[in-house]
Amino acid sequence: MTEIRTIGILGGGQLGRMLSVAASRLGLRCHIYEPGHSIAGDVAWQVTQAPYEDEAALRAFAESVDVITYEFENVPTSALDLLESLRPIRPNRRALAVSQDRLTEKTFLQQIGLRTAPFANVEDEGELAAAIDRIGRPSILKTRRMGYDGKGQVRIGDGPAEWTGAPSVLEGFVDFSAEISVIIARGADGQVAAFDPGLNVHEGGILRTTTIPCGQPASVTTDAVLMAAQIANALDYVGVLGVELFVTPDGLIVNEIAPRVHNSGHWTQAGCAVDQFEQHIRAVAGLPLGDGKRHADVVMENLIGDDLDRVPALLAEPKVQLHLYGKGDPRPGRKMGHANRITQ
Ligand code: ATP
Ligand code: MG
Repeated sequence: MTEIRTIGILGGGQLGRMLSVAASRLGLRCHIYEPGHSIAGDVAWQVTQAPYEDEAALRAFAESVDVITYEFENVPTSALDLLESLRPIRPNRRALAVSQDRLTEKTFLQQIGLRTAPFANVEDEGELAAAIDRIGRPSILKTRRMGYDGKGQVRIGDGPAEWTGAPSVLEGFVDFSAEISVIIARGADGQVAAFDPGLNVHEGGILRTTTIPCGQPASVTTDAVLMAAQIANALDYVGVLGVELFVTPDGLIVNEIAPRVHNSGHWTQAGCAVDQFEQHIRAVAGLPLGDGKRHADVVMENLIGDDLDRVPALLAEPKVQLHLYGKGDPRPGRKMGHANRITQ
């Protein structure tokens, strides 16, 4: 492999921003491609602001970098086809295809022997009633594509069922005792390194906190890490992968996977010598991975919307590592930053 100096990142949000900072610490530089305003571009070597349909811009972007990665999995296929003809994309296209569509994702997970919530494909509103008959109530209808932070989801209780407006999957409601996630990295040589699983608490469909250690017995955390490694190996994955799981009395159920650094892995910035962002950069640049070892207990708290008002108080806390994303407008539900609180 030729030496990698410049990394192209598709998507210019906070994940791209933190990837770019991590790359700079390793003497590498990032070129961000983002159709809108880019808070990642503020800390990067170069930024291209252009739509994913702009072939000339895509080509120039690819030609300026050694490898391409992404912080956002919903990049249009046509753009990926063009980019892939010019430079390697890591993680690979299969990882993207599997995680872009909840139907493909759940089918893949079951094929490799992992458990998911019971689900049914619902192409259009006309198929909804039959799907509810099959899966039962309560259940959750989720658009197959483009969902994040609980968007594109409808809970189905006893009343009439609302339609999401797009092809969806209907998922049986999982009565979990906890939600945990594993952040795992796999190198180009197949080496794998996992961070400790974290306990995730959501509010209104948005991640609120991740707590490490997660309070689950070793039998559960070991299982979780093995499942994440199985997924990474099956996809011949290169980079950092996030795997969200439900803990149930009958074992672990995989909720979803994210082929990128993940919000529930932000604690690694304060808990590990090599955090998830550096780990991802190392993997895509072909460098040896860190070992994922944790040196502190951490609670990561997302700062959403008005939580920004708490910044002065957080700045005064000695064991808080604050990350602000440089976003202008603190709209409700918008992730503005996060605080990593070292608890031990
Ligand atoms: P994110 O971007 O935060 O990952 P998302 O929009 O991709 O969210 P999901 O992860 O599918 O959505 O769901 C968000 C949250 O809703 C889950 O973390 C969980 O708390 C709850 N949830 C989702 N699916 C189920 C289910 N089948 N049973 C019970 N709870 C669920
Ligand atoms: Mg999720």
